[in-house]
Amino acid sequence: MVPAIHRPAQINVDLDAIKTNVKNEIKRLDNNQQLWAVVKANAYGHGAIPVAHAALEAGATGFCVATLDEGLQLREYGLPKPILVLGIVPTQWAPLAAQKNISLTVGSLEWLKKADKILTETGQTLKIHLGIDSGMGRIGFSEDDEFKAANVFLQDNPHFEVEGMFTHFSKADSADTSYLDYQVDRFNHMKDLLTVKPKYIHMANSAAAVFDRKIKTDIVRYGVAMYGLNPSSVPNGKDLESHVDLKPALSFTSELTFVKKIHSGYGVSYGATFVADKDQWIGTVPVGYADGWQRKMQGFKVKVGEDYCPIVGRVCMDQFMVLLPKEVPVGTKVELISADPKAPNNIKAVADQVDTIHYEIACLLSDRLPRVYQN
Ligand SMILES: *Cc1c(COP(=O)(O)O)cnc(C)c1O
Repeated sequence: MVPAIHRPAQINVDLDAIKTNVKNEIKRLDNNQQLWAVVKANAYGHGAIPVAHAALEAGATGFCVATLDEGLQLREYGLPKPILVLGIVPTQWAPLAAQKNISLTVGSLEWLKKADKILTETGQTLKIHLGIDSGMGRIGFSEDDEFKAANVFLQDNPHFEVEGMFTHFSKADSADTSYLDYQVDRFNHMKDLLTVKPKYIHMANSAAAVFDRKIKTDIVRYGVAMYGLNPSSVPNGKDLESHVDLKPALSFTSELTFVKKIHSGYGVSYGATFVADKDQWIGTVPVGYADGWQRKMQGFKVKVGEDYCPIVGRVCMDQFMVLLPKEVPVGTKVELISADPKAPNNIKAVADQVDTIHYEIACLLSDRLPRVYQN
């Protein structure tokens, strides 16, 4: 979608907040520990390139992405440092990754063997991180025998440089740490099977980091907390307390493009699910579900000027309506998502409204919304 730069609706990203979040976490790390900034999915909707530069400036020493293309984009924009693709990339692209000095996750012996054939032809060496499925049930080695065979395959193999070995937690944001402990044990068991020595061993995500799970490995893969958001991920649940200050970076603002008075019996939006019971003021905001502002946002209160006003009628593809307490001028500021975690329209409140987590809200904000950077 083409960004709508001639429409008053934008995502504001405070890069200082991102830098502060990165610095605050780095301060808590030991000297030999690194923070790699997770900038997948366009930096959780915040914009990969500006966020990556901010993270770098604040002391991040590597990047994690979800797809090879996201890594290629960072390289195209000249970002230095290691880049790790966290997902599985088809082996046919191993030469491209090697050429661009992008590290790939390996989760099976079969992948290694296929990639080895291709890299033998091209004569390249690919950096890899061995992904361990210690209980996430997603990708990675989970069987001892296969992992041991991979280890043998990698010994003195000129086509692979084993840069890392890592796992990913499924419940680091839970108050009950028994499953986390199980995953750590499982990972350590697999690590002991290795004779090739990866440069970096890593486990922690944001949750393990900010909830102080005492995971002292070489790299923290810092994602959602870098954006200033608490990694607790239960919709409508209470957040666990972060041990580090988190400053949200993102806000979402627009303006009223139309204001009118409607009379008793007059309906608003598709299906006329809202019908005025007296003379009422209605404002129109030029944002809809095509921007990632879902239909389930109906009923949520956004800030119009100084008032919190409910969304009335269905959210359309490109517009929605709010019930105003009084007549206000066209051009009045509308804040859909506040960067203040205490504001009633903070991103967690938005996520609660649609029964999801703020990760999903931020990622779904579409390309049609220009990203505007402060600091
Ligand atoms: C997305 C992801 C992360 C970052 O997770 P956060 O909860 O945002 O910190 C870390 N590691 C892996 C493997 C991931 O997929």
